[in-house]
Amino acid sequence: MFDLIIKGGALPDGRVTDIGIRGGKITAIEPLEAEAGEVIDATGDLVAPPFVDPHFHLDATLSYGLPRINASGTLLEGIGLWGELKQIVTQEEMVIRALEYCDWAASLGLLAIRSHVDTCDDTLKGVEAMLEVREQVKGYIDLQLVAFPQDGLYRDPTARANTLRALDMGVDVVGGIPHFERTMQDGADSVRELCQIAADRGLMVDLHCDESDDPYSRHIETLAQETHRHGLSGRVAGSHLTSMHSMDNYYVSKLLPLIAEAGVAAIPNPLINIMLQGRHDTFPKRRGLTRVKEMQAHGITVGWGQDCVRDPWYSLGTGDMLDVAFMGLHVAQMSSPEEMRRCFDMVTIQNAQIMGLKDYGLHVGARASLVVLDAGDPIEALRLRAARLCIVSKGKVVSRTPRMDATLSIPGRPGTVRRRHAAG
Ligand SMILES: [Zn+2]
Repeated sequence: MFDLIIKGGALPDGRVTDIGIRGGKITAIEPLEAEAGEVIDATGDLVAPPFVDPHFHLDATLSYGLPRINASGTLLEGIGLWGELKQIVTQEEMVIRALEYCDWAASLGLLAIRSHVDTCDDTLKGVEAMLEVREQVKGYIDLQLVAFPQDGLYRDPTARANTLRALDMGVDVVGGIPHFERTMQDGADSVRELCQIAADRGLMVDLHCDESDDPYSRHIETLAQETHRHGLSGRVAGSHLTSMHSMDNYYVSKLLPLIAEAGVAAIPNPLINIMLQGRHDTFPKRRGLTRVKEMQAHGITVGWGQDCVRDPWYSLGTGDMLDVAFMGLHVAQMSSPEEMRRCFDMVTIQNAQIMGLKDYGLHVGARASLVVLDAGDPIEALRLRAARLCIVSKGKVVSRTPRMDATLSIPGRPGTVRRRHAAG
């Protein structure tokens, strides 16, 4: 007797099978004739592990237009605007908006989120708010928090002390923003100190790193070196890394093996960076994305992050990781079937690996969290940004969405359009 059986779905690797769930765990992946509390017919549909977002800002989300919009569309105006907003926003407002976003996320099968939380505020109300949200959503979303000194660990006079306080309060990961410190030297020093803090406390590291069009912003080099020195391999990520787009090819040919050797993961955020970067360029205009395929060719783990939804930096977004992968696929020109499938893996299993999620995936013994999509395979899911027909989180159905079929009224043509068109 199972609590739940997902019947006849196609897994991302193409296997067609049933999934049996009991006690919040996947207990069988094989053809099943057993009894179950509920059977979900997924015949012909893709059944995937849940989406994971390794880079988000839940304290700022859904605040677009408060107190005004970002007129220049740049990262720096966004930081200034957030600086104004965080003076006036209340802890309660941050909790309400974050919970609304988590509803959107759950409905889209986004069941694990790493969120940076700004520690440059002496009241730490954002940290308090996000710790409260982490507790409230833990039954259906795994929320991992990063202590993020938005205004610079050294540039802001109390950021260092407040970041340490946030870690003492139970924030999970050490964050930073070396390219925003006053000088390159301060930036490099901040990377060294933050890695030391992580090593001392046994924590992971995720820095906003080189989110700049300046080809000489090379803090990733220091991050790789410090990761190597402290033996933090597999526990460190560099987010954005957009300066790598503009770097000299010879320098990058030395840099990528260093990142690979250190075991540092990369988290590009294609929606936000294609919007923010290159704003000082005329034409030709640079793309705001790091070197994704090139890093993967060196064995570096790369995931796609969302970063922002309806906030001072980005006006659009829904929390759909298929939108993120779709944009990333285009900007990085990952157009072969193998590369498109990899883009799907990046927003699922690669991101889960970056966050260090335990019991993740579709295998016996894993936590019973999965998504049934209105698509035949991962590439079709990307093409359609397919409806999430059913979301199971920790053994329970938490969301359902109807198929995307349209009713057509054209003489001589079918009455229903589905737009699914899987190969074969
Ligand atoms: Zn960010």
